[in-house]
Amino acid sequence: RAAHRGRRTEQSLINKPNVSSQYHKEIQKRRTFGIISHPDAGKTTLTEKLLLFGGAIQMAGAVKSRKTAVHATSDWMAIERERGISVTTSVMKFNYRDYEINLLDTPGHQDFSEDTYRVLTAVDSALMVIDSAKGVEAQTTKLMEVCRMRNTPIITFINKLDRDGMEPLDILADIEEKLQIECVPLSWPIGMGKGFKGVYDLHRRQITLFTPSQDTRPEDCIVVQDLADPMLDELVGVFAANKLREDIELLQGAANPFEYEHYLKAGQTPVFFGSAINNFGVRELLDAFVELSPPPGPRATTTRMVDPSEESFSGFTFKIQANMDPAHRDRIAFFRICSGKFTRGMKVMHHRLGKEISLSNATVFMAQERSHVDEAYPGDIIGIHNHGTIKIGDTFTDKEELKFTGIPNFAPEHFRRVVLKNPLKMKQLQKGLLQMAEEGAVQVFRPIVGNDYILGAVGVLQFEVTMTRLKDEYGVDATYEPLSYTLARWVSSDNKQQLREFEKKHQFNLALDAEGHLSYLAEGSWRLAHTQELFPDIVFHKTRESV
Ligand code: GDP
Repeated sequence: RAAHRGRRTEQSLINKPNVSSQYHKEIQKRRTFGIISHPDAGKTTLTEKLLLFGGAIQMAGAVKSRKTAVHATSDWMAIERERGISVTTSVMKFNYRDYEINLLDTPGHQDFSEDTYRVLTAVDSALMVIDSAKGVEAQTTKLMEVCRMRNTPIITFINKLDRDGMEPLDILADIEEKLQIECVPLSWPIGMGKGFKGVYDLHRRQITLFTPSQDTRPEDCIVVQDLADPMLDELVGVFAANKLREDIELLQGAANPFEYEHYLKAGQTPVFFGSAINNFGVRELLDAFVELSPPPGPRATTTRMVDPSEESFSGFTFKIQANMDPAHRDRIAFFRICSGKFTRGMKVMHHRLGKEISLSNATVFMAQERSHVDEAYPGDIIGIHNHGTIKIGDTFTDKEELKFTGIPNFAPEHFRRVVLKNPLKMKQLQKGLLQMAEEGAVQVFRPIVGNDYILGAVGVLQFEVTMTRLKDEYGVDATYEPLSYTLARWVSSDNKQQLREFEKKHQFNLALDAEGHLSYLAEGSWRLAHTQELFPDIVFHKTRESV
């Protein structure tokens, strides 16, 4: 008969490279990725399920509790809790089949999108979660733009099929239109909401039937070689069976064929359907993910590309996180290995400081715990204790002087003047602001004229976090005064004469950022446009790479 019950088969969509050396095998089995989605689409739920399938956690609910219980003692985490948003980014490592997966969690709230951007510089691919009832939402679009800047390959998961939502074809059209990326469905939903019956795997021609449950991991499926088979009607009902037949016929006429190279260049996204909370479609997604998503690839430095197959060690810091452990007030630098093998205690060159440092107690972040790491490979993220010597963007290598590129500062859009309540705390204020600027938590500007501290942020919640941390960690009591600036631009020019005139005329709008770069603060884009007209040789930059 044409249809029979069986286990899901492994049937590869792509040819895999044949590698021999142990080092190359380690690279080939690594997958480092982030999840992008609009808040509430189901990122946390999916993360949890991925960890569950990977065996990294045993129980549903674990990821949510990480958001609340563990950090309950930390005050600034209270902001996160009160507002129900995830401010911080963490790294979770887990295994699935033969793969070692690093999942980099990103803050969902748009006020922390700078942080999200930096995290996405450290991934090799992304998973996009979309709520089937809502389609593409604002934050999805923004994050997609970020992925596009680096041509990050994206796999899409349409979530919440157990609820009534948009027609699957309409969701695809919505993605293609709003995100300008070709969709290639690799699975297809059979019904939705109360009538959700399961998904059809277009590649393997298998149906997996849906049973709502948060605890099972569906593995059984039914192989359907011919959709015309009347057994399909028995399985899912005549209505759903006919709808599936119609949909698939439409798809065969209209849908793009899957092209691996096109996906790798972020021109095409494979699409899967499911329900994260019910564990449905998650295994299919994970199987496709490990198979399709790229292992660590080459990365750009200011001088050359670095290939992961190079055996000499290199990598960069993309995030610094304070208060991971509130009891110790520690600061951890998250470091992405780009080439070479890390071994515990190895010495590396810290190129910005021009000195050697020892990576003695680096940490990996397993799903629920931290543990010391003895070895790590390209694609892995290690945590290094930071005593104020590591900044975002810092490159470490075992010999060659390199500087990885692509970790910019974004021009802030919100500004506040810091008013210190107790002038004797000036030193602590300086220290706190400098450290938080180095962590990328907030941007700090010193006006050319006067002694003020001006903070710049991409999202206003950053100010709240900064103020709370100043008080908790540095004992500084301060308040903010509003400022009328709405944008900042980093300034440069080859015309030295014009630059001098510009500096003279606009001295009250000029400031130095934490790294001493000249910045122009303006009250609106009309003001910037006007200034640009008067000083045509001045270049106003919206982003600036850390040095
Ligand atoms: P995040 O903000 O993107 O991390 O989203 P969450 O994972 O916290 O999910 C947001 C809400 O959607 C929660 O109430 C989840 O229980 C719910 N949710 C997640 N996945 C599903 C799903 O597959 N079906 C339904 N009906 N609800 C879901």
